[in-house]
Amino acid sequence: MSKTKLRGDLSRRRFAALLAASGAASAQQQPAPQNPAIPEQRRGTLPEIPPFQEPLTFARKDVPLRVHPFPMTQIRLLAGPFKDAQEWNLGYMQRLPAARLVRNFLMNAGLPSSAQPLGGWEQDTPGRAGELRGHFTGHYLSAAALMYASTGDKDIKAKGDFVVAELAKCQQKLGGGYLSAFPTEWFDRLDARKPVWAPFYTVHKIMAGMFDMYQLAGNKQALQVLEGMADWAGQWSASKSEEHMQDILNTEYGGMNEVLYNLTAATNDDRWAKAGDRFTKKRFFNPLASRRDELRGLHVNTHIPQVIGAAQRYDISGDVRFHDVADFFWYEVTSARSYVTGGTSNGEGWLTQPRQLAAELKRSVSTAECCCAYNMLKLTRRLYAWTADPRYFDYYERTLFNHRLGTILPRSGATQYYLSLTPGAWKTFNTEDQSFWCCTGTGVEEYSKLNDSIYWRDEEGLYVNLFIASELNWSEKGFRLRQETNFPEQPNTKLVVSVDKPVHMAMRLRIPEWATSGGSVKLNGKPLDVFGSPGGYLTLARAWKNGDHVELELPMHLHIEVMPDDPKMQAVLYGPLVLAGDLGASGLTEQMIVGPTTPAVRRLPADVPTFRAAGLDPASWIKPGDKPLAFRTSGQQKDLTLVPLNSIFDRRYSVYWQVS
Ligand SMILES: [Zn+2]
Repeated sequence: MSKTKLRGDLSRRRFAALLAASGAASAQQQPAPQNPAIPEQRRGTLPEIPPFQEPLTFARKDVPLRVHPFPMTQIRLLAGPFKDAQEWNLGYMQRLPAARLVRNFLMNAGLPSSAQPLGGWEQDTPGRAGELRGHFTGHYLSAAALMYASTGDKDIKAKGDFVVAELAKCQQKLGGGYLSAFPTEWFDRLDARKPVWAPFYTVHKIMAGMFDMYQLAGNKQALQVLEGMADWAGQWSASKSEEHMQDILNTEYGGMNEVLYNLTAATNDDRWAKAGDRFTKKRFFNPLASRRDELRGLHVNTHIPQVIGAAQRYDISGDVRFHDVADFFWYEVTSARSYVTGGTSNGEGWLTQPRQLAAELKRSVSTAECCCAYNMLKLTRRLYAWTADPRYFDYYERTLFNHRLGTILPRSGATQYYLSLTPGAWKTFNTEDQSFWCCTGTGVEEYSKLNDSIYWRDEEGLYVNLFIASELNWSEKGFRLRQETNFPEQPNTKLVVSVDKPVHMAMRLRIPEWATSGGSVKLNGKPLDVFGSPGGYLTLARAWKNGDHVELELPMHLHIEVMPDDPKMQAVLYGPLVLAGDLGASGLTEQMIVGPTTPAVRRLPADVPTFRAAGLDPASWIKPGDKPLAFRTSGQQKDLTLVPLNSIFDRRYSVYWQVS
């Protein structure tokens, strides 16, 4: 979200100012104007027919997926950093009182509540500050459903069920369709193109929460509520001309298309997908379907959810235009617009042309919004299902280990808004009940579903894509797998099979792209004479017997990634881990860490050293430190300790360095 309660209109202006400074024409992407001085026939090409020019028609045709993720109910996390993050998040979700989560909905429906209102973006006050109120409650429903599926925790399901029932009461009081914590008058403002923050963005969160409570927690009332809301949104959008609706779509609307397509997939009622089609922002999709990057000037997290919707539209219709939108977008964002952590966005926008990341990084401190990482992982998961191409998991692992694992505050469960990559930055976190940023919402979802992509399956067998301590129960096959690992602290994993009778299948182990220092695999203690290529799979096919175990060694090494537009600006990695230089805690206070969306590093700049590389191999000047995953530079004017970015809290750090 570009506009915070704390930053309000100011932030919108700041986003516009950043764009102006970076040379982008305006906050809304315009198609490149044709030069009238050049007659059409002299350009030598036929004018392009935009792929989405005609009105959309929907016909259901499901595309078979190449691979499927296991349901979260079949995977449980075991002790380790991911399980810790899950528990800290569950603690935060438990501490938030349900009565406070539903309070604004009751008030809006004219029903009583004595609960204390929440603060931050959930505040119930006139004016812009609380114009997204209710959004977090939607995220909370998704998170409760995900957490229940991940852990089987009945209390969190009961809390989700309570919220659904209270919101259903509000919906009935409001007529059975519309449901929100704010009045329909805000949609009149949207319709009249008068200032209003993002009402469909908020409604999408509530709809997605209801969908997840139905699908993952079996709550049938949530489906009824959702169908009422979908009916309302369908009628509202159908009453607009296509041209006017396209204009309305210039206001952020989350994943309205996605949730309506999901509803069609779950109910086999095409009505919802037809409503979803009305949330297709054509001027954003047209260049993507033609494989052109016209992303500069766009607000990032407004658009990623729309692309997730495009992927789902392809899955249920086979319309390749939507496939191409998602495929090209993912390729472009991950290869040309992402930092070394896998994070994307700056000041919430894409401010420059592709591959200008060093230039972009200088434009603000508010890099890499966490919602963007969350949504890019969701998109990655969908695209992987089309091809089983392991490169998707190279990106997934990079982002998960560097941008998600390290952005939840140990024990408190507070999460970040931006993961700043400005040299000298520090991590900042939400308050307990006075923030409720967009990223607080995607945060409670993220850390409720850390088990969701570790294992995948197809007809031939199993894929192991992530090295996370966990247990898989493939009950349909009578096959259980226990992954015992301290990865990444130790660069290996062990997979132990439990079966009642032998199960014949292929087990595909992902060999990460960073694993270029060799590696080895043992079956039942005996080294095998095979290994996979980095960026591929190692396939072990056999009749798996009870007690069979596989040990995989993936030695890590130091390597460098340079900025595409400034080769002297470099980041250091060890295996999949981005290393951060520890710049100390001098000057940092609690108030600077808890509450602000971004670190005030411009007001309190750090002394960030530059480095001289002693050779091409970073191991020539970066030496192992005194504990696992810690390193120390050597021979520099000022030597520093480097540790994984995901382990730094309450300290200032730098990820990018000037290296000569
Ligand atoms: Zn966010």
